[in-house]
Amino acid sequence: MKILIGLNNKANKNLIVKWIGIRYQLDIMEQKEDLNKEFDLLIVDGPVLEQLKDNIKARKDTETPVFLPVLLITNRDNVKFITKQLWVTVDEIILTPIEKLELSARIEILLRARRLSLITQKMAITDPLTGLYNRRHFFVITEREICKVKRNGGSITCLMMDIDHFKKVNDTYGHTIGDIVLKEVARRIKSCLRDFDIVARYGGEEFVAIIVDSNLSIAQKIAERIRQRVSEKPIELKNNIRLPVSISIGVSSQNAPNIDLHILIQNADKNLYRAKELGRNRIVY
Ligand code: GH3
Ligand code: MG
Ligand code: MG
Repeated sequence: MKILIGLNNKANKNLIVKWIGIRYQLDIMEQKEDLNKEFDLLIVDGPVLEQLKDNIKARKDTETPVFLPVLLITNRDNVKFITKQLWVTVDEIILTPIEKLELSARIEILLRARRLSLITQKMAITDPLTGLYNRRHFFVITEREICKVKRNGGSITCLMMDIDHFKKVNDTYGHTIGDIVLKEVARRIKSCLRDFDIVARYGGEEFVAIIVDSNLSIAQKIAERIRQRVSEKPIELKNNIRLPVSISIGVSSQNAPNIDLHILIQNADKNLYRAKELGRNRIVY
């Protein structure tokens, strides 16, 4: 866990760095842009908070619904200021002079809340079987991405993918093996995509990917790579069973500014069904 220190008071800054520097990874704030870095707790004093409260509030908002705690170090005379800031920007207060044990305890309490919040968030956005994003989070981040593309121009491509004859796998080998196949296909699909592409489990044995800001020929290459990688090797199961697997892919693309996610998906879906009709293990654009 990483702590960002934004303290004007040199004596307090030195003290805190000395006390907690061994236990936590610390980052000392030099300019307000440092607020954009990744951290798990921000420690500020009155002057820094006064100067940057809007930026701090905005930074907390970017993490919503994940909790990003802010700890204020201040003196008792500042009660009016403190009570105004508490709840709005600040989550916890320590009054000066700082007590070492109190500081450690409050830091631990805030980091515990941060950790829990991160775990809950991960669970809320992840499909437990494949580890891919779930459908809900897919829509959240894709809508965000579409806003960016609409602003900056470019195009967005959607790949709807469905495992071929998957019901037969379940019927022949049972659901446990079916699950193994689903996981392996998800892994193969993900291995063909770049970090900034979006991939999610759309439903049962259906996956969806969004290829961002690329022309159709790049998206076509990626789709072809996925189709090949999924089917090139059978999935190795226990007892020397080698299970062949393939997927069908429907592709659709839209250019900024006329992008509508639901139409994009609908078109990709139509093409997916066309790919099934045409014999499966193929891509329809
Ligand atoms: P097609 O080539 O036309 O797509 O045929 P299909 O058999 O793949 O399609 P169908 O829609 O008939 O079957 C999908 C199956 O996927 C049915 C369902 O039991 C199975 N399935 C959905 N989710 C899961 C899951 O989480 N685990 C397992 N093991 N099976 C699942
Ligand atoms: Mg299906
Ligand atoms: Mg299927």
